[in-house]
Parts: sequence; structure tokens; C-alpha cells
Amino acid sequence: MEVISTPSRYRNPISKYMVKRGPQCIKCGTCAEKCQADVHKIIPTAPSRPKEHLCWGDFCDNPCVKYCPTGALRVENNPLFEALGDYRWTPDLLLSTWYQAETGQIPPPYLEYKIGASGGGFDRLRFKFPQKKGDIPLEEISLSIALNRSGDNRPTVEIGMPIYGGGMSYGSTALSVMTARAKAASMLNTFTCTGEGGYPEALSAYDDYVITQVATGLFGVREETIQRVRMVEFKYAQGAKPGLGGHLLGDKVTPEVAKMREAVAGSSLFSPFPFHSVYSIEDHKKHVDWIKEINPKALVSVKVSTPTDVDMVAVGSYYAGAHIIHLDGSYGGTGAAPDIAKKNIAMPIEYAIPFVHKFLTDEGVRDKITFMASGGLRTAYDVAKAIALGADGCVIGTAELVALECVRCGNCESGRGCVRGIATTDPKLSSMITVDWGTQRIYNLYSAWQTQLKDILSKLGMKSVKELVGRTDCLAYLDYG
Ligand code: SF4
Ligand code: SF4
Repeated sequence: MEVISTPSRYRNPISKYMVKRGPQCIKCGTCAEKCQADVHKIIPTAPSRPKEHLCWGDFCDNPCVKYCPTGALRVENNPLFEALGDYRWTPDLLLSTWYQAETGQIPPPYLEYKIGASGGGFDRLRFKFPQKKGDIPLEEISLSIALNRSGDNRPTVEIGMPIYGGGMSYGSTALSVMTARAKAASMLNTFTCTGEGGYPEALSAYDDYVITQVATGLFGVREETIQRVRMVEFKYAQGAKPGLGGHLLGDKVTPEVAKMREAVAGSSLFSPFPFHSVYSIEDHKKHVDWIKEINPKALVSVKVSTPTDVDMVAVGSYYAGAHIIHLDGSYGGTGAAPDIAKKNIAMPIEYAIPFVHKFLTDEGVRDKITFMASGGLRTAYDVAKAIALGADGCVIGTAELVALECVRCGNCESGRGCVRGIATTDPKLSSMITVDWGTQRIYNLYSAWQTQLKDILSKLGMKSVKELVGRTDCLAYLDYG
């Protein structure tokens, strides 16, 4: 698979700038000739709307406006852009993610694509690149990581980049979205996770790239699907809502979703917190042993949130036989997670990663377990920073949805679900996304991220992403004030 330009599904994509061409226009074509961003196309016989989402606005050093002989052009800030997003997912990050999903390229300078505006966490961390630039060609840099480092007799399972897709269930997102995520994962040689809610048949073509999840409600858990995959994830908690379990409101429980979950259509479904079968590491080990018994080749991942004793949980998971410990910090989650929970319960992932990395190292088991991090990681730079703090790789959810044109409106759980056809089970809304379009957008986004990750490693003089793990000396924290 290769990067192919995959434009927005909408006729008028949301833009940072508005470009207005007034009635004085004489269709001379000068603007089309001068614009470097391909905003203008002048068809002498027909009106044509400028492609505003490509306009560089204030960052353009040769604006078309100054060449227009009749003064017909205006370039202005778009008030809709300013109303988008929040401090973590800024309008710039939304549009730069869309840009990457469309083109597979690093965004132009008018879009900030590395950090948000939260004023803390990853937004205050920067890489300290050496003065002398690394001269390692990008094609010599490896981004692959192994998911099984335990030395047991199960497969190593190398993935092509230090990233895989996080759990989003059948019921929370459209089937076309789930399938596109799985197909993109297969093209990128990585994984995506079903979340809790069952394993739709449409994913069977991508079994080798799907993680099936076992969570507290045991919705849709079947031994035959556990036997089909290379990796199974136990979800103990989610960083966006630890202690609250999961919930799927009745409106999204269609007859198909209900059948998969063995529930009643139209009734709200709740996954309790915690697993009521697990109150000790020994109980936890029984869970892991159960999966290993059913599928002798599968790797087992344990997903937990970030309480203050998360270091003990991580080490306990290793001794229970897990291959992967997946830490999910606060700030992740879609609009289905309440804001009060996202912002106030779990430890932010940037604190949890070095804490757990150090404890696993001190206990002498860091090299035997793969450590994945998630929870509010939005960009390739966030991924690189998480690895430098001590993770082996990252699990991404929201950025994949943004690649599919999520606007972070937070209405994932209301009524029939997402008006953009992403977090919905409504057949009409779901049909707004095709599998091929979604696959290519996710593939393009990760292609752009891989270029950025390699560029960071090259500047740091590293040939493999594995060299970056725990290199906090490569990071600087910009203090407050
Ligand atoms: S330069 Fe001005 S007059 Fe000429 S086509 Fe563009 S908008 Fe119209
Ligand atoms: S656009 Fe859809 S997926 Fe994104 S936040 Fe809104 S409702 Fe949720």
C-alpha cells in the first residue's frame, strides 16, 4: 500500500482561512498562476470556489491578493476554525491531522502539528537535539518493536512501528470505522483492538492484526474469536474513566449490537468496575492462564489505568505472565467519557511512564515485558516523547478518529451518535464512511507520523526507536512562568 491523496468527504472542508472572490473578478487567472498552494482554479465559463483549506493565510509570503488587478480577493481568519477543539486538541492539531490523513505529508507551517495549547504535560516537553545534526538517512532507521520479550515459546510478533490502535467497541463506533482501522493496521503491519463488544465477522480478513479485548462486562467474549487472533487484551480499567467501568447508551444498542453482546436491543449496557473475579495477583494470573490455555500462540496484554500504585500493578502483571503492560493515563477517551473523570481521576500518562519504567527496571524485569502507553497522545511528537520517557510504544485511539474527520464535538454518546458517521451504530450515519476511504486516511496519517518519528531519531543520531526508550536526557521541560 502507498500514500494516495484522500481528500475530505465534505464538499467544503473546514479551513483556517476564508478566501473570498467577489463579483469584481474578471477571471484573468492571475491568482491561480501565483498561488503556490493550489487554492485557485479559474474556469472561464463557470464560477469556482477557492479551496480555502489549502490557503496559507498570514504565513503566505506571496499572497494572491496583492496580484489581483480588480481587488476581488479577500483572505480572512475563519471564525469556525477558532470555535473548534479545545486546549488539548487545538484547531491547529485537528486541521493538521486532517492534512496528514489527506496527503500523508508533514503539514505546512501555517498549521501547528507538534503540540497543543494545554500549557502542561507533553505540550511543555521539547526534544533537545544535538547541535551537530545526526546524519543517519531516514531509510536506515527502524521503527519496529517486538511485542513479546518474555522469552517464552510464543511468537515474538514484531510490529512495523511503535504504535497500535486502541480499543473501540462494536457498538461505540461504526462497523465501517472498525473495519477501516483493522485494514489499515494490516497494511501497516501493526494491530487494532476490538474494544469490548465482540468481534464482528467483517474483521475476519484481518485476524492477524486484530487484538480482541476481554473486559469486565464480558460482552461478546467468545473462545472461538480468542483462538483466531495473535493477541488478547484484558481491560481492567480505562484512563479516561477509571473506577467507572464502561457504558453504552440504549440508543446505540441496535439489534445487531445486542445480538453480538447477547443483550436486549435498546437497553443501555454497563460494564462494571472492576472484574469481580479479580482481587489479587493470583486471580489476575488465573485470567492470563485462561487465555494462554485457550490459545497457545496468543500474546496477552493487560490494560490498566494509572492509580498511584500502578508500578506494583505493572510488576504484578509481569509475574502473572502478561507479555504487554498497557498503561492508559487520563485525557484519552472519546466524547463517551465524562470530562470530570478524564480530567480528575487517573495520573497523567507523562508522570506514569517514567514511574513505571523505573520500577520495572529496578525490579530487573524491564527487558522482559513490553510497555505500551496511551491516554491523550495526539501527535507523532507525543509518541516520541512517551518513548523517551520510558515506554516501548504507544496506543492511539482519538487521532485515528480525527483522521476520519472527527471534530471533537463530544457528542459520541448522544442519540443516534456521531453526526460525522464515526461513533455511531445508526445505519444511515455509518454509511457516511467507506472502508477504503477510512483505511487510506489512517494509513496516510501514520505514514506522515513515521516520517516525523524517523526525523526525530535521525536528529538524535539513533538508528532504532528502541534506542530512544527511557532517554529522558533527550527531553527538556519548559518550566511554568
Ligand atoms: S486575480 Fe483577481 S480578477 Fe484575476 S481571477 Fe483571481 S480573483 Fe479574479
Ligand atoms: S465528531 Fe463524532 S466521534 Fe468525533 S467527538 Fe463528535 S460525535 Fe464523537
